[in-house]
Amino acid sequence: MEKLAINGGYPVRSGKIYYGRQWIDEEDIQAVSEVLRSSFITCGPKVDEMERTLETYTGAKYAVAVSNGTAALHCACMAAGIGAGDEVITTPLTFAASANCILYCGAVPVFADINPETYNIDPESIRAHITEKTKAVIAVDFSGQAVQHEEIRAICDEFHLVFIEDAAHAIATKYKGRQVGSLADLTTFSFHPVKTITGGEGGAVLTSQEKLYRKLALARTHGITHEASMMENPVKEGPWHYEQIALGYNYRITDFQAALIVSQMKKLDGFAARRKEIVKRYDTAFSELSELILQKEIPESDTCRHLYIIRLRLDRLSCSRREFFDAMGEENVQCQVHYIPVYWFPYYQRLGYKKGLCPNAEKVYEGIMSIPIYPAMTDQDVADVIHAVRKVTENYKRPLSSL
Ligand SMILES: *Cc1c(COP(=O)(O)O)cnc(C)c1O
Repeated sequence: MEKLAINGGYPVRSGKIYYGRQWIDEEDIQAVSEVLRSSFITCGPKVDEMERTLETYTGAKYAVAVSNGTAALHCACMAAGIGAGDEVITTPLTFAASANCILYCGAVPVFADINPETYNIDPESIRAHITEKTKAVIAVDFSGQAVQHEEIRAICDEFHLVFIEDAAHAIATKYKGRQVGSLADLTTFSFHPVKTITGGEGGAVLTSQEKLYRKLALARTHGITHEASMMENPVKEGPWHYEQIALGYNYRITDFQAALIVSQMKKLDGFAARRKEIVKRYDTAFSELSELILQKEIPESDTCRHLYIIRLRLDRLSCSRREFFDAMGEENVQCQVHYIPVYWFPYYQRLGYKKGLCPNAEKVYEGIMSIPIYPAMTDQDVADVIHAVRKVTENYKRPLSSL
């Protein structure tokens, strides 16, 4: 057996590899410089182009570009009319922003449990948490896999809830052949550098409903409109006239970020294809390791995987998740854990959420870690990661006779 680097052996590779990283090429740099040399660096034509590009790609009628994925979620909640006294159901196995946006609106996040095999929100648990105060569902396409749209849509229709999809992980994913972005009432994307495509920062909300679109546009820019049809006193005092008709924020994105996102969109299908290739290799290699559990895919989801999650069967290993994680790091494969259940954070604990609320999510959390996946990985990088996972697993596996 190969000696682990953490025990003084040689690491599987000499340079560190991280769980995710952006891909920026000369074309991207060119696109950004062009904007910087132009007259408009914000509120200009590139933001429009970014929106039209997202509409064409997803099939949604309207895209509203914003400054980041969290702003996108906040705008979506505002457009959905979420306010004080409302409850919104979401998943605990997500980045805090998926729940924080509910708090921004003065509403109460209610955590439904996940399916222990797919790690996505369980529609039956959504149903079990509905009360008279429930206003919306924020479902997260965890790791890029589409949520169970049909089931969630049926529940939202039955109880008149707004279906918001946090698709920060899932821009290139399809559900039953339909592109994510065209399915829920409101879909949000993030363009943070660890996500599938990036603008440095950036986000967008997609919808096909005009009423929601108008509210999104107001939420993004202070609640101000320049359109006479939306004004309360459209008699213009002069050409400078505009009106603030709601309370909004400054969630605008710059034109140079939009240019980067447009440029990245051209590469998106290529990125997705490479991610799928890597997933295939990992799946094949790791299905032979009975100490690991792989994420289950629902057949409806044609997934562009943002995160590749391995789940340790701790009963078959002589190490803790922490020891496995550290051993991988010493092999120069830097993993990450997505995510600490949101309501475990001190802020949520102070709000009164109790540990034990979502047993599936907590159980899954104990054993998971995200290994590197991003399109710029070389075949050698992929082979190194597989080597490291095998090596660490072999070193810590309990002999079958001891089980
Ligand atoms: C990254 C992320 C967000 C937030 O996006 P930002 O652009 O970083 O604000 C929201 N939800 C999920 C699931 C994410 O992964």
